Amino acid sequence: MNSNVSKPAHSWRPRTKAVRGGLSRTNFSETAEAMFMTSGYVYGSAEEAEASFDGTLDRMVYSRFKNPTVATFETRLAEMEGVPEGMNIACRATASGMAAVHAALLCQLRAGDRVVASKALFGSCHWIINELLPRYGVERVFVDGTDLAAWETALAKPTTCVFLETPSNPTLEIIDLAAVCELAHKAGAKVVVDNVFATPILQSPFELGADIVAYSATKHMDGQGRCLGGAVLGSPEFCNDVLGPFLRNTGPALSPFNAWVLLKGLETLDLRMERHCANALQVARFLETRPEVARVIYPGLESHPQHQLARRQMKGWGSIVAIELTGGKSSAYKLLNGVELIDISNNLGDAKSLMTHPWTTTHQRLAPEDKLAMGISEGLVRLSVGLEDADDLVEDLGRALES
Ligand SMILES: *Cc1c(COP(=O)(O)O)cnc(C)c1O
Repeated sequence: MNSNVSKPAHSWRPRTKAVRGGLSRTNFSETAEAMFMTSGYVYGSAEEAEASFDGTLDRMVYSRFKNPTVATFETRLAEMEGVPEGMNIACRATASGMAAVHAALLCQLRAGDRVVASKALFGSCHWIINELLPRYGVERVFVDGTDLAAWETALAKPTTCVFLETPSNPTLEIIDLAAVCELAHKAGAKVVVDNVFATPILQSPFELGADIVAYSATKHMDGQGRCLGGAVLGSPEFCNDVLGPFLRNTGPALSPFNAWVLLKGLETLDLRMERHCANALQVARFLETRPEVARVIYPGLESHPQHQLARRQMKGWGSIVAIELTGGKSSAYKLLNGVELIDISNNLGDAKSLMTHPWTTTHQRLAPEDKLAMGISEGLVRLSVGLEDADDLVEDLGRALES
């Protein structure tokens, strides 16, 4: 086989797709994915340019629409995402996770539509649903994502979209995806899942009935704190006819450089998630033994209220641990200021362990009653467990808690 021709990916297993999916070599037969840092493309003739714009010729015309490196990232991610037998999905990359969530919702909503969302959401996702959608005449209803009866009541009326995040940020609530998708589809709604905490390695929302999946690639996909990125996955019809024109004309395009970095990140995502999960479980089990800690929230702990559900719908528990300290904000600050190895940072999914105080950082702008309704108290600390030696992390946390 010619080394420049991309190989058929359909029969590969997920780990192979993560390393080779979408690879299409240039005439130089390079090993690694080529990086096409170009905004535009040239035409051999005026006729060729015309044909490229009227659609008779399928080729690159402008990197806001399509770029070879970005397209490789999109193909690889689409191939990595778990789907039910016979389902086809496509992927569109965006400049950030928030651009992905914004586009996934706004591309399909119009005045008069209705959205039902879980209330435990990443701060900016909450802002889009709560502040932005009503400006455009979209009705929004928030429910406790873990309460199926609340979903049932909210979805008793015709609904356009359901938006949810599971596990949620930062309180790690687990939502029953299969049950909510069934209720949503009966109400005529498309289900959009923010799958950032789980990644395609740990959870496959399409297999549980989701219609659209959104990612921040900034988090575990890059996983090394280098660049922003995002992606939306859905049916080819949705990606081509609904999402495609929205992205093309509003312009949240992913840089080819960032797409290249993220492609290399996808190659090791599976390996890294395995270590993230093992480290996080060890750290969570240690924290559970500490008297300074009122509560440890981690889906892998038997004490997690949706532990059995997480076991059913996830393949691993993830990298994030939430810690509720007995002494409120002052104890939270003592822990943050006391750790030496773990950094204070609001990012997550990084190789480096990072810790933040959601009340005063990621969720600062929410009203206190909204924070409390989401389970965020002043004593809550979110820990993104990295790839260091877990024994070093445990020692660091132990020292900081004692002081
Ligand atoms: C970080 C994050 C986002 C936003 O992603 P950005 O790349 O920072 O724009 C959305 N949802 C969740 C759950 C996140 O953690």
